[in-house]
Amino acid sequence: MKKFLKKAAAVACAAVMTLGVLSACQSESKELVLGTNAAFPPFEFTTTNGVVGNYDGIDICIGKKIADSMDRELKVEDMEFDGLVAAVKSGKVDMAVAGMTATDERRQSVDFSDTYYTASQVIITNPDNTDINSAEDLKNDKTVGVVLGYTGDGIVTDDLEVEESKITRANRGIDIVQDVKNGKLDAVVIDRETGVALAEKEGLRFVEDPEVFEAEEYAIAVKKGNTELLEQINSVLREMKESGEIEEIANQYNQ
Ligand code: GLN
Repeated sequence: MKKFLKKAAAVACAAVMTLGVLSACQSESKELVLGTNAAFPPFEFTTTNGVVGNYDGIDICIGKKIADSMDRELKVEDMEFDGLVAAVKSGKVDMAVAGMTATDERRQSVDFSDTYYTASQVIITNPDNTDINSAEDLKNDKTVGVVLGYTGDGIVTDDLEVEESKITRANRGIDIVQDVKNGKLDAVVIDRETGVALAEKEGLRFVEDPEVFEAEEYAIAVKKGNTELLEQINSVLREMKESGEIEEIANQYNQ
């Protein structure tokens, strides 16, 4: 899969990169800083030859497009997901593009762009764990992994009320799925695209439960009141949605 993602990145972001080269000629190159947690394929991950340095993925392509539209150079700051909202708030990063669900709770701290992707949660488990077939089943004495501060953490903790002693919280999506693979955990609850991609890669099983795992909308977070950047982001997103470019990029990375 890694190989494919690399190839897809080159294709998917080709147009974006050309624009980048053109705009670099006309500009002072002030950086636009994108905060993310690059352990969330296909939205953000590291690779040897990414769109920006070692960073690649759907969100990095979108970020590059936004930076290009402003004649600015994109810089990626990789950090723990749980620190992203604070980093936007303090101005350490200009925007968080991180498969971040626009939740009411986060809206109290940051402003969100228009949404650009609809996702949901999924359960990842071992194929021999045949008694996990719904979100409810996670309450039956199962050890459950989530990523700290993800929406999945909130669902497992507050909605499903899985017993606290059964929950393990990690900082990176790719690490916690490894714990399912090596039998340390019965299941992980994580965003669908990432979960399915990792499950397929690791030979694990995924379980959907749309009644419990409702649709989530990904959006880009900026500092409260930064309407100039927000409007710029929204106009790029609008253009990318209308032209079908977001879908095209997502399809290529999702395959
Ligand atoms: N969509 C989830 C959230 O916003 C997870 C995002 C991520 O891992 N990058 O909490």
